[in-house]
Amino acid sequence: MSSNERPTNFIRQIIDQDLASGKHDRIVTRFPPEPNGYLHIGHAKSICLNFGIAEDYGGECHLRFDDTNPHKENQEFVAAIREDVRWLGFDWGRHEYYASNYFEQLYGFALELIEKGLAYVCDLSPEEMRAYRGTLKEPGRESPYRNRSTEENLDLFRRMRAGEFADGSRVLRARIDMASPNINMRDPVLYRIRHGVVHHQTGAEWCLYPMYDFTHPISDALEGITHSLCTLEFEDHRPLYDWVVEHVSVPCRPRQIEFSRLNLEYTVMSKRLLTELVDEGHVEGWDDPRMPTIAGLRRRGYTPASIRLFADQIGVTKADNRVELAQLENCVREDLDRTAPRRMAVLHPLKVVIENYPEDREEWLEAANHPKDPAMGTRSIPLSREVWIERDDFRKVAPNKKFKRLVLGGEVRLRNAYVIRCHEVIEDDAGEPVELRCHYDPATLGANPEGRKVRGVIHWVSARHGVRAEVRLYDRLFRDPRPDQGEGRFIGQINPDSLLTLTEAVLEPALADAAEGDHFQFERQGYFVPDRVAHCRERPVFNRTVTLRDTWARLAARD
Ligand code: ATP
Ligand code: MG
Repeated sequence: MSSNERPTNFIRQIIDQDLASGKHDRIVTRFPPEPNGYLHIGHAKSICLNFGIAEDYGGECHLRFDDTNPHKENQEFVAAIREDVRWLGFDWGRHEYYASNYFEQLYGFALELIEKGLAYVCDLSPEEMRAYRGTLKEPGRESPYRNRSTEENLDLFRRMRAGEFADGSRVLRARIDMASPNINMRDPVLYRIRHGVVHHQTGAEWCLYPMYDFTHPISDALEGITHSLCTLEFEDHRPLYDWVVEHVSVPCRPRQIEFSRLNLEYTVMSKRLLTELVDEGHVEGWDDPRMPTIAGLRRRGYTPASIRLFADQIGVTKADNRVELAQLENCVREDLDRTAPRRMAVLHPLKVVIENYPEDREEWLEAANHPKDPAMGTRSIPLSREVWIERDDFRKVAPNKKFKRLVLGGEVRLRNAYVIRCHEVIEDDAGEPVELRCHYDPATLGANPEGRKVRGVIHWVSARHGVRAEVRLYDRLFRDPRPDQGEGRFIGQINPDSLLTLTEAVLEPALADAAEGDHFQFERQGYFVPDRVAHCRERPVFNRTVTLRDTWARLAARD
């Protein structure tokens, strides 16, 4: 029952085999975020993989909050994660779980391990434990507490739960093999003591917290997860995952499969680093449009479809990789090119006075909302004697033959309107043009008269009707393609020009009604959305999602 919708990958092939062999007749996956930050585009890869598989195989995908580390976790993150997964278009139905839901059961499984002689309470200090652990080359040494009696272990573990011992004084460890070549198997810690923390789900009920490596396999098994998909750094933990599900009485044995994480150029993805950016105020917050978080991408104007397309394109493998930012951007261009209505907006306005256009006249001209999709209809654009054009669209003298815009003495078409000719430039003291005096040709509405050569077509906005707006242009947040790899702090790699705020932009009046969730192509400028935080009708604020073409590639080629 494999799907044709999404490309296959090695994980889907394993699932196909498991269905064909009768090992499973229903597929259950899970997405297990730790609620200690907002989700990012790397998580989106995992979400699309897990929920995509559940969708395509008619199974289910659970949303499980992996909340075993109450120090850094909180309810704000839980709410944000829920919102982001839903926004991406996925539904976990009634399958929302918390690892903390299982604390009582996990405790029971720990007692079971103790009774089987497979876990013990260890009193070594953290430093001693590190020294006993050994290295990659040398085996570890057994803890002097390793051979405590079952009775003593049960007694001590119960008293750990009851709160009799201080943080760090004792832990519960699995009793596996201190000589294992895999350090994760050298009697790993299963439980630690944490007094005085208030857990966002369980409050002050517990002072004993289970470790991820114990919690995760059991949570998977209790939920009947068939395929537990995680990133490659857990490959070395798989023997422990298997050991845990083998030795406690759980109802099934899920299979862990690892795939490579997504790394993106010019981006950091670790939650620790993203937290630093937020806490130190280098960005406006978790949803700053420069952040690689889902919330940031959404505010920037990315669509769920574009992120899902990206996830499909990058695929799922075991190979380590760093994906070009341009690939992500091309996905949002591809989606928005189809769906975003076209509008005209002037970002750096230069005034044009059309001298032969009567002062009291205005015309409403018909313009297509989309050049390739007539079903998107048309809108009316007002024209009057004074219009704004883009500063860059005028030069006194053409700098080169490729300059297809307005020059002194030259002609250009105002998009959706007439051809104008510039016959005078008014400059300021520094020689910068402040106003152009032009004439329009009434015979040129809609088409060029026979034999007429016009340099190019530029966008414009009627000065009388235009709407003033703030427009925010974004660039990469970091200057270095691998900001987290070099010497020193990644903060030093922040691009000081990652945000450019333009306050003088002028929009065509049809944009005055823009609302959250709308997307537009500002012709020749890129794709834009109203900023979901700052925008309002009285004071429009737009974010550029992406330029129309990959301008960085062009800049790099020029360097
Ligand atoms: P970080 O290391 O940034 O804290 P994490 O892996 O600890 O991230 P979790 O909340 O534990 O974050 O991740 C939830 C799920 O998302 C895990 O299954 C994890 O493997 C997956 N995931 C996290 N980052 C990426 C990434 N860059 N690419 C693909 N999957 C990821
Ligand atoms: Mg994690």
